[in-house]
Amino acid sequence: MKVKAAVLRHVGEPAPYAVSQPLVIETVELAPPGTGEICVRVLAAGLCHSDLSVINGSRPRTVPIVLGHEATGEIVELGAEVQGFRVGDRVVFCFVPNCGRCGPCASGRASLCEPGGLANAAGTLLGGGRRWLDAQGVAMQHHLGVSGFAEFTVVSAHSAVRIDHDLAPEIAALFGCAVMTGVGAVVNTAKVSAGESVAIFGLGGVGLAALLGARAAGANPLIAVDVAAHKFALARELGASHCVDARDADAIDALRELSDGGVQYAIESVGSEQVLAQAYAATRRGGTTVTIGLPAPDRMLTLPAFHLVVEERTIKGSFMGSSVPSRDVPRFIALYRAGLLPVDRLLTHRLRLEEINTGFDRLARAEAIRQVVLF
Ligand SMILES: [Zn+2]
Ligand SMILES: [Zn+2]
Repeated sequence: MKVKAAVLRHVGEPAPYAVSQPLVIETVELAPPGTGEICVRVLAAGLCHSDLSVINGSRPRTVPIVLGHEATGEIVELGAEVQGFRVGDRVVFCFVPNCGRCGPCASGRASLCEPGGLANAAGTLLGGGRRWLDAQGVAMQHHLGVSGFAEFTVVSAHSAVRIDHDLAPEIAALFGCAVMTGVGAVVNTAKVSAGESVAIFGLGGVGLAALLGARAAGANPLIAVDVAAHKFALARELGASHCVDARDADAIDALRELSDGGVQYAIESVGSEQVLAQAYAATRRGGTTVTIGLPAPDRMLTLPAFHLVVEERTIKGSFMGSSVPSRDVPRFIALYRAGLLPVDRLLTHRLRLEEINTGFDRLARAEAIRQVVLF
């Protein structure tokens, strides 16, 4: 079928994107779902920093590619052998398909699914196929098995989690990346308990979602750290007990003082090895640093190795919030409904697909938290 989609053909176009237009709205051909796949009418898709990293070249991907990995929609067609879904079901996508059968999936680490990771790297769906053709008949890449910046998309059924119909699409979409990644980092990777001290480094969409997760978990004190002081008012409204400007020369001392010698958990969402080193320095003896941000692949981290032993410090990576999507999307939505996870506060802009390049300008300039394209 013919579908309107945002296609990236050239990586590294200069900002402002409203002028260079790296994402081109094209009418492309979407093939029907293959075995184990579903066709979904996309209702809403969020703009995430990982999409921006593909656009600006810091996360190299093959082009042409239909971008977007944080989205929600309604199933319009089932491929052969799809179980557990019906036409008309609402779904949220997860950006690592989880096969359910490989070693990591079988041990509850779905975000490390091995066939899922290979398919994402290859720009295919989990089954190995591509369903996008451009107007010239050239096959295009899928983005993380989702490709949400399109009116319709075909995904593996292992990339989707069913949700209720009554959740507003612009809210539901956020559960696919920002919430799963940020809240998951706190409750799955760090496993924060009530009354434990947490510092969140970086107050973008994922960092603020982590802040909400830490608040829901009962973290105290809960310290927000950023270089953009204009974000502190919102961080306080969302539950931060203190805010620290990371540019201050005594920022680490301030963090240590606020947390009686260092935080038990530091969550780093910036994707910078300098910020990661700062987060590590803010933890106490026995403390854990969790990193969610994606630095450029050539960046190296240097640490005082001695601490790891005598202070029993821990550094953990967290990919997709160490989530099991079929378990975590429903429970995070339930927390939202209970008023304990106000993720609607992360939504700052609603866009039409034609406004997507302007939206990425806003994201690059840190003038937005979460922006969602509504179809
Ligand atoms: Zn994302
Ligand atoms: Zn797997």
